[in-house]
Amino acid sequence: MGKKDNGYVKEITSKDEDFSQWYIDIILKAELADYAPIKGCMVIRPYGFSIWENIQKLLDKRFKETGHSNAYFPLFIPERLLQKEAEHVEGFAPEVAWVTHGGRERLAERIAVRPTSETIICSMYSKWINSWRDLPVLINQWANVVRWEKSTRPFLRTAEFLWQEGHTAHVSEEEAEKETLQMLEVYRDFVETELSIPVIKGRKTEKEKFAGALRTYTIEALMSDGKALQAGTSHNLGQHFAKVFDITYLDKDGELKYVWQTSWGVSTRLIGAIIMTHGDNRGLKLPPRVAPIQVILVPITSHGNKEIILDKIREIHNELKPFYRVELDDRDEYTPGWKYNQWEMKGVPLRLELGPKDLEKNQVVLVRRDTGEKLFVEMASLKESVGELLVKIQKTMFDQAKDFVLKNTHVLSSIEELEIIMEKNKGFVKAMWCGNRNCEDIIKEKTGATIRCIPLEQENLGDKCLCCQGKANKMIYLARAY
Ligand code: AMP
Repeated sequence: MGKKDNGYVKEITSKDEDFSQWYIDIILKAELADYAPIKGCMVIRPYGFSIWENIQKLLDKRFKETGHSNAYFPLFIPERLLQKEAEHVEGFAPEVAWVTHGGRERLAERIAVRPTSETIICSMYSKWINSWRDLPVLINQWANVVRWEKSTRPFLRTAEFLWQEGHTAHVSEEEAEKETLQMLEVYRDFVETELSIPVIKGRKTEKEKFAGALRTYTIEALMSDGKALQAGTSHNLGQHFAKVFDITYLDKDGELKYVWQTSWGVSTRLIGAIIMTHGDNRGLKLPPRVAPIQVILVPITSHGNKEIILDKIREIHNELKPFYRVELDDRDEYTPGWKYNQWEMKGVPLRLELGPKDLEKNQVVLVRRDTGEKLFVEMASLKESVGELLVKIQKTMFDQAKDFVLKNTHVLSSIEELEIIMEKNKGFVKAMWCGNRNCEDIIKEKTGATIRCIPLEQENLGDKCLCCQGKANKMIYLARAY
């Protein structure tokens, strides 16, 4: 048994052996989250929450740059508000948690714990919007929501989760559509640039769209076990909510008109996506842009040289601290080898080692988490080298994930082929579809795969539907999904 096997790594279930257990092992052992004493909920621990804070910072900046402001609406929604939009209430009914009592008193009207906030926000917009001068309204909320999900998994699907929800109102359908697609692009850019996760942008089918929306757009990612994950959604709500909540404005032409609306959201699910896209048998692998610790400093000391090495590594720590998220692991009770394993498991992108030989040569050793590559770097150029390496790691992680997606995307033309692929190596499947709900249902029933999206970038792969072999003019992405 090698030295490494005695450390932390051994405790993580192998990815190929049991992917689900591997995922849970990482979450618990990297201290991202823990199970809560309430079904379907999790406790996000400081290390995991720090990733979420970085996600928030980077996303919020993009929201502000595109003209949005943050606000906050109540957690509780009176039943009569939730009931107003028929499709919406129908879609969310099975997942709503209800408050029936206040203290000891039974409430006259049940109160929903928000599963999403369209209804309560619309009730306010109908008050705030009166004239064309009040439009557009571009508001985002960072909040928690509750959906009473039947089967849950930390980060990917929890009963309570953290997210942001954008809610906008516009004068025209074109403007609302433009906003919907703009925010989808914000999500794509964010997820690909900051999380190094490649995604497919597309539209959801009628069956899969958000309850109450006119059109739903999505970004879909492929996890490293070959299953897809909906990483974010942007909805063009049309005038469905405006009509039932009476959100009207007096237009320039003196006519009273209904607004056009959008909503869009991403959640703590993104942390699950990071784990499942990048993690390996050594543990978590974090993209530098959102890693709570970007560089971990590990001194290698022995009798006689301890103080001199510690002094130098503290000096390096102080030098790097203003520029990067760095931490010094100078704990005495653990060996350097043990620390290497632990920080690899926690996904820190870069490790800096300093031992007596390095000190002599006025250099440090840098080890990349993504490739395992070891580099000797001169002290004088350390700051620049670290910066360049973090950029490189971010990009390499994206390229590796992209390569995986390309290698695991199959072009198919029959449902029999799809059955075989879904049994074996899974992955994304590109195919043509006739647009019929019936075929969509048959595909799901026979293969377990769902239509992930109708990609915005269409390719012509033929003119026959994968399922019925009838005339087809839509290229789709299919996969089994989380
Ligand atoms: P929706 O309002 O249903 O479009 O949800 C917006 C986004 O939140 C989805 O695209 C998912 O990424 C995420 N999401 C939905 N349900 C859950 C859940 N139960 N747990 C975590 N994230 C979720």
